[in-house]
Amino acid sequence: MEHAILDFWSSNQIFEKSLASRVGAPMWTFYEGPPTANGMPGTHHIEARVFKDVFPRYQTMKGKYVSRKAGWDCHGLPVEIAVEKELGFSGKADIEKFGVAEFNDKCRTSVTRHVDAFTKMTERMGFWVDFDQAYWTMAPEYVESVWWSLKEVWKKGLLVQDHRVAPYCPRCGTGLSDHELAQGYETVTDPSVFVRFPITSGELQALNASLLVWTTTPWTLVSNTAIAAHPDVDYVAVRTTVDDVSEVLVVAEPLLSSVGGDHEILKRFKGSDLGRVTYQRPLNYIEIPDAHFVIMAEYVTTEDGTGLVHQAPAFGADDLASCRAYGLPVVNPVAPDGTFLADTPVVGGLFFKDADKPLVKELKASGALYKSTQYEHSYPHCWRCHTALIYYAQPSWYIRTTSIKDALLRENEKTHWYPETIKNGRYGDWLNNNIDWALSRNRYWGTPLPIWRCENKHEICIASLAELGELSGQELSNLDPHRPFVDDITFACSECALTMNRVPEVIDCWYDSGSMPFAQWGYPHKEGSVEKFKAAYPADFICEAIDQTRGWFYTLMTIGTLVFDQSSYENVLCLGHILDKDGRKMSKHLGNVLEPMALMDQHGADAVRWYMLAAGSPWSSRRVGHDAISDVVRKTLLTYWNTISFHALYAQASDFSLDQSPAITERSIMDKWILSELNSLILEVDKAYSEFDTQSAGKVLAAFIDDLSNWYVRRSRRRFWDGDVAALATLHECLATLTQLLAPMVPFIAERTWQDLVRVADPSVALSVHLTDFPVADQSLINLELNKQVAMTRRVVELGRAARAESAVKIRQPLQRALISASGWSSLPVEMKEQISDELNVLDLADIADADGDLVDVSIKANFKSLGAKYGKAVQDVAKIIASADAISLVKQLRTSGKATVGSFEIELEDLVITEVPKSGWMVASHDGESLALDLALSPELIAAGQVREIIRAIQERRKSDGFDISDRIEVRWNASESLVHTWVASAEHISAEVLARAMIRDTTITFSEDELEFGFELKKYAD
Ligand SMILES: [Zn+2]
Ligand SMILES: [Zn+2]
Repeated sequence: MEHAILDFWSSNQIFEKSLASRVGAPMWTFYEGPPTANGMPGTHHIEARVFKDVFPRYQTMKGKYVSRKAGWDCHGLPVEIAVEKELGFSGKADIEKFGVAEFNDKCRTSVTRHVDAFTKMTERMGFWVDFDQAYWTMAPEYVESVWWSLKEVWKKGLLVQDHRVAPYCPRCGTGLSDHELAQGYETVTDPSVFVRFPITSGELQALNASLLVWTTTPWTLVSNTAIAAHPDVDYVAVRTTVDDVSEVLVVAEPLLSSVGGDHEILKRFKGSDLGRVTYQRPLNYIEIPDAHFVIMAEYVTTEDGTGLVHQAPAFGADDLASCRAYGLPVVNPVAPDGTFLADTPVVGGLFFKDADKPLVKELKASGALYKSTQYEHSYPHCWRCHTALIYYAQPSWYIRTTSIKDALLRENEKTHWYPETIKNGRYGDWLNNNIDWALSRNRYWGTPLPIWRCENKHEICIASLAELGELSGQELSNLDPHRPFVDDITFACSECALTMNRVPEVIDCWYDSGSMPFAQWGYPHKEGSVEKFKAAYPADFICEAIDQTRGWFYTLMTIGTLVFDQSSYENVLCLGHILDKDGRKMSKHLGNVLEPMALMDQHGADAVRWYMLAAGSPWSSRRVGHDAISDVVRKTLLTYWNTISFHALYAQASDFSLDQSPAITERSIMDKWILSELNSLILEVDKAYSEFDTQSAGKVLAAFIDDLSNWYVRRSRRRFWDGDVAALATLHECLATLTQLLAPMVPFIAERTWQDLVRVADPSVALSVHLTDFPVADQSLINLELNKQVAMTRRVVELGRAARAESAVKIRQPLQRALISASGWSSLPVEMKEQISDELNVLDLADIADADGDLVDVSIKANFKSLGAKYGKAVQDVAKIIASADAISLVKQLRTSGKATVGSFEIELEDLVITEVPKSGWMVASHDGESLALDLALSPELIAAGQVREIIRAIQERRKSDGFDISDRIEVRWNASESLVHTWVASAEHISAEVLARAMIRDTTITFSEDELEFGFELKKYAD
């Protein structure tokens, strides 16, 4: 079915028409967060794409022009690593050997490898997006646009090179930005060591004291340069004795417990007294001149460790700052590939993380190790290749985002986050702790950083190939703006005439995707791009998974604010993660991955869409499994579909046409009720969609479908059999409007219905449901009182069914009476009470309050909560009086007059906790303060009536199984046991009417077919 709809859409260009019909209308802007297409699409891609589709469809129906430009994220580490893997490379040396041009060529091909799979999945799921106009972040015009924005940032002095310690992936050979860092924490166990550093100067040397230092990165001890103490913290020299061996150690007094053993404080002094005290380092492997003394640093805390912090300035930002203040050198024995330089003793050639073990061994052997344990903590890893990151001093290009922090907070304040908690929680925290954006990457496949420099460090940032061509005096409009081609372009410095070369770095690919609001148009270089950009900035709506708070959501807002002083989006929907049916992450390793295409082929795209949109909160993690999908589909979509088939069947049987529709004032109360519900539904769904709340939309739509099918149609069946035009018209109107309301969420089934039901009945309507205007409620048809009454009727019926099921008395067995306790019961119209009687097959209904004491046991207790509020301490006295009161008469009095006096206290109904238990022979069901009691006593008349219904049911079922048409008239030949014959004969007329029998003939040769009830029959159809 869905494939036929896809064909219909494409051959009739429905998507294009939906756009064309809104040209010139107010714009509603959606930005597509570009996926990287060098891997296969997963189920989480469907999730995001469903949400990206539903709101643009809705806004289009609301009269907006919603352009939907697809995009592809092309650059960056993910692509490079995939290609490295494919070529069997283990690092940058292999790439250089292979050739940068060739390598980038492979990257370019890799990006496009799975575009087809993405396109197919996207089309299959009915996500309307324009692939023909897609933006590619590797396209020259896109790169030039990114260059232009970098120049804007550079001109403001916010793009600078700095020598900082930053997280760095030794395998990928490049630094990472803070938002990338946030995506790769993993729990690891590291050694936790306490090491002695013997003091070699001053009074403490005379005590043979050692500084005690704690570290979880023993490999950094090789480059120990200093030890930091806090100037204002109290430190102590203690004599400590462990296993009869005593020694003197220096630690911060609040952390004395870290020493362990017995100890005696010999000396107490401020951290500042330790200034410039020299010590002997434990691993004397590399030359570090003029170093190894205690320095002062304010960042030292007494939260853990010893209050004495080992300093390795090449591997810690704080270390670097503190050591710089003392003019200490930065000595780095670790190569960019993460291994110790070959000539380093003991650990030369070892990967930094692997050096911990041999170094701890050395520390132990030399007696420097005081104690060691294991320490489990979360440590940053490369989000792409999972290598442990190293904090590493290197020159890098930064965008000084910290200097626009106030503007970012201001823009965030204006943004509507769904869910709202993200704004000041996860995302707000992120902005508040903002650090500068480490923009450059020492890699190959990325947007080249467009900065040229001469040896005198004069620099210029280039905004376009045209500008570059002008400076270099070459025609460059067709130059591939990637490495290595762009690296070859040089020109003379305007200040010193020396040659200017491009700096070697490329940029963070997250900058590319964050630039899409303008770069997708080639702004400002390309013709027409300025108008296009201005008309579509900022976006009304973006939507991605919640982890993008530190990815795309951040870069998009930051670049917008940097370049245009305005965030690039107003509403952002954050989606929860997709888990398997047991709540585990989907992974190839666990074998629990659901392939998107297979999932849609099995259940249908609409089923998957409906599940994603309606079954649960969009921002919670959600479990996806086959059973869960089938379940929601059966409950709602199948019911909707069956109701359509039902209408088609009876509309056809009675040659119904829309011009027969009677005026609404002439319709029955049931018709008025469902139309009232329908118009309320329009308002509710409209509101939910406008607030990006598909879960609420799904909930009210499902409730309406249930009302329509399981109450309106169910209660109106006889009218449909009779070809009642008011019923047919009402159901048609409900289904047509419902279909429009469902269209954004389940576009396939809605289209099918539109074609088969709505367009068949009225060929003048729009060619597709997706070309219609969103329904507008007729508020004059909304009757909230009526809605309430029917809702109550349905609840009472549910209670009755529950009581029936519990009692095991079949629904076909009539019962004499039921007692109901529900507020508002007495004012329920007679017609609705009759419906309840009929549904429950109970002859009389009465208010439980009217039942006398011989039917119901009533017991009462004081409601301490409400009484306590009224009478304070006297509540105990009131409770005592209530406990001894006559429950039945007190409850009756309260129910009739609303008030009663007990002792000297006045009470109301709410002051009592009432328990009404019908006496034996009754079955009670209760829910939410409403209850129903069924009288199970059976008289001979009731039994006979039950038998008649069994007979009718059996004949009706046979009619169906024999394939008779619903209007066929029949002859019934029957036989029954002695006890049944009388009942049958007495009710023959009634039975005949129900089963459309013209003749009812007893035939004793017929054998009983239904053992239980002891009767049998044969049916014959009349030829006319
Ligand atoms: Zn890496
Ligand atoms: Zn120069």
